[in-house]
Amino acid sequence: MANNKYVYLFSEGNASMKNLLGGKGANLAEMTTLGIPVPQGFTVTTEACNKYYDDGRVIAKEVIDQINTSIVELERITGKQFGSLEKPLLVSVRSGARASMPGMMDTILNLGLNDEAVEAMAKLTNNPRFAYDSYRRFIQMFSDVVMGVEKRLYEDLLDQMKERKGAKFDTDLSAEDLKELVVEFKALYKKEKGEDFPSDPKIQLIEAITAVFRSWDNPRAIVYRRLNDIPGSWGTAVNVQEMVFGNKGETSGTGVAFSRNPANGENHIYGEYLMNAQGEDVVAGIRTPQPIAQLKEQNPAIYDQFEKIVNTLENHYRDMQDMEFTIEEGTLYFLQTRNGKRTAPAALKIAVDLVESGMLTKEEAILKVDPRQLDSLLHPAFDAAGLKAAKPVAKGLPASPGAACGKIAFTAEEAKERAENGESVVLVRLETSPEDIEGMVAAKGILTVRGGMTSHAAVVARGMGTCCVAGCGDLKVNEANKTLEVNGTVLTSNDYISIEGSTGNVYAEQIKTVAPEITGHFATFMGWADDIRKLKVRTNADTPRDAKQAVEFGAEGIGLCRTEHMFFAEDRIAAVREMIVAKTVEQRKKALEKLLPMQRADFIGIYEALEERPATIRFLDPPLHEFLPTAEDDIRELAKEMGLSFEELKATIEGLHEFNPMMGHRGCRLAVSYPEIAEMQTRAVIEAAVEVKKNKGYNIVPEIMIPLVGEIKELKYVKDIVVETAKKVMEEKGVELEYHVGTMIEIPRAALTADAIAKEAEFFSFGTNDLTQMTFGFSRDDAAKFLKDYYDKKIYEQDPFAKLDQTGVGQLMEIACQKGKSVRPNIKLGICGEHGGDPSSVEFCHNLGLNYVSCSPFRVPVARLAAAQAQVNNKR
Ligand code: PEP
Ligand code: MG
Repeated sequence: MANNKYVYLFSEGNASMKNLLGGKGANLAEMTTLGIPVPQGFTVTTEACNKYYDDGRVIAKEVIDQINTSIVELERITGKQFGSLEKPLLVSVRSGARASMPGMMDTILNLGLNDEAVEAMAKLTNNPRFAYDSYRRFIQMFSDVVMGVEKRLYEDLLDQMKERKGAKFDTDLSAEDLKELVVEFKALYKKEKGEDFPSDPKIQLIEAITAVFRSWDNPRAIVYRRLNDIPGSWGTAVNVQEMVFGNKGETSGTGVAFSRNPANGENHIYGEYLMNAQGEDVVAGIRTPQPIAQLKEQNPAIYDQFEKIVNTLENHYRDMQDMEFTIEEGTLYFLQTRNGKRTAPAALKIAVDLVESGMLTKEEAILKVDPRQLDSLLHPAFDAAGLKAAKPVAKGLPASPGAACGKIAFTAEEAKERAENGESVVLVRLETSPEDIEGMVAAKGILTVRGGMTSHAAVVARGMGTCCVAGCGDLKVNEANKTLEVNGTVLTSNDYISIEGSTGNVYAEQIKTVAPEITGHFATFMGWADDIRKLKVRTNADTPRDAKQAVEFGAEGIGLCRTEHMFFAEDRIAAVREMIVAKTVEQRKKALEKLLPMQRADFIGIYEALEERPATIRFLDPPLHEFLPTAEDDIRELAKEMGLSFEELKATIEGLHEFNPMMGHRGCRLAVSYPEIAEMQTRAVIEAAVEVKKNKGYNIVPEIMIPLVGEIKELKYVKDIVVETAKKVMEEKGVELEYHVGTMIEIPRAALTADAIAKEAEFFSFGTNDLTQMTFGFSRDDAAKFLKDYYDKKIYEQDPFAKLDQTGVGQLMEIACQKGKSVRPNIKLGICGEHGGDPSSVEFCHNLGLNYVSCSPFRVPVARLAAAQAQVNNKR
């Protein structure tokens, strides 16, 4: 419900009011209640921000009135007045959303200064230099942040002044110099804006608050929100707080501290401070800050008070705190506290330590680690120093995490060959296709110009745990000439390239990578997550190697084994092609007979790797033309190999051409046209299960999954082939074997008719890649190209291929679950689209009552933790 109180004094709020007051505002209020020395102030709420946008980007009069009333209150509390000639009130104006968005929005300091107040301040502090320095900083900041006058123009004036006065540092300028500079700054403002710099602090304040609201929607904030799952509808609050100064002389100072080490989680106060300085001096690196331990020696009384407050805050919030403090003429103030950001190893250590010390329960600790962070523990990363010194030259989509560095390979064959010779290579392609698989396996990383988050390159790379940057449109790749052009620089096969899959950054240089380290806390913590969660976690894996890797990461089986990936291997592509170009059923069967032993061996390998864990094997899905070459030379060569004429093969390939292959002859439609394929695959699955049972004693219960079903009769048709073939094989072998046949729900019609489909399907697995594609009606391979415009125009906030669209696609899932259960109450339900590894989508699946999620091996720990968090949150 809309609240018509839009402004709260710090003394009126508390920590539970985060949604309304933002994280910073709620914590300032809480600290005030706790009796911690906090410079006082008030918070303009997130609702006021939303109202500002609803009203067409204007602050309503009732909000302004409440701000003015709060100023009077603040004047009373502080005993200072806005614009006073004796005791001027100066404030900082800072953003503060529900979730911290460091540096994304605007801040204005020293607000309230004008020609009179500065004089009063000079007298009051007996430090005119300090007063005029604060004033010139304020004019510059206000002009830049609030009024859009370029900062650079002010910096030029400052530099000219320094040159005239022979000053090396800003600190070398005298009070008189700075006074002169203020006059120049104000003249510049008038020239740029055509009016005088506003001298009324109340006008300054309303303008500054407006600017912070406006900054909620600046491009970097929008991008940050998208990357961190923060909805645009939250808005930001604005905190107006009395200024305290750390630059009033040697008894003043300022610093930042964490209650534990944010890099490794060690339990000691970690921080830095600087005496006689303002926060921005620390940031600008003009002077080197001191480690916090020094403060103990320099001022034991203050340190003692500081340490007590740090402990109070950590105990109160029951989490590691990140705090800003200022000492003003010997008096300590805390300016803010929040749960500190930390690296993944630190997050795990802190969570485990807090449980062991009795501060948190395991369930509470589970919520303290962001599942997405775990990713960074499982992949190589760039060496920190190397990364710091490097400069990105382009940015693509962060398609698969990790870091990779190597020389450029322009084709898959080249990547494979050079990798076999011991070279580290990064495969750079316009886009990848299934034929590139071996080069992709061999490469340290994959970089593509085209394609989105669910493009072939992205999906395959995530599956293998290989770093991938996709859809990097800034690159010009000439595959024929083997050159890569970026910002005018041309790179060749001899040049190094480095890519970072978690950011999408591309570097035209060599950066060292380091192997991942998994500590003991990781295992302890994940054990707790497993005890808590109800949702099972499977993996999408097509090879024994990937399956083993996933099991090491905690997978409880395979939720999707895409059999087509097995068909591209060098030793079988010929037989696959023979099957495709076959003119008669006999010819096709002959080719399939060659594939049968290989396919059976694939499944044996997978069943053995899983050691009795379940595996859902999906029958052939992609359009057949993907297995055939497109370039004339390749067709000629293949025709020769196959004993066909060039014309004949070319005509066959052309005959397979489709305008929209993803909506074409694929999935179960292939088995409808060529039942022999389903027959061969069924035989391979059942024979493999029988053999593994015989050899290893594992009790395998095969799960056969039919893709792309939209109509019950087509599922029934394919299922009948499976049942008939399985029966035949079991008779031949003289064994009885339990097995299940299910389907993917990835076509909207399948979701809508799920009651009919559940009559035949023993399980559903939501293929949310295709389901998203078909529900939105845009291609999963091409959408990335225009979705950018949708983010810019705020039509979508998130990539629906990465984060499940719960409103639309989710609704279809809900319908399918209900209808499916109405016919088959115990139907097994899972998801195997890319969303199965996305935390918010995992939570949705938990709430929907699915039995399992399935995701690529490297996201298994992420899904395990997200599932545990869903359970804890849901219980609450
Ligand atoms: C899907 O569509 O979500 C799915 C898992 O199948 P594929 O990505 O292979 O089309
Ligand atoms: Mg699909």
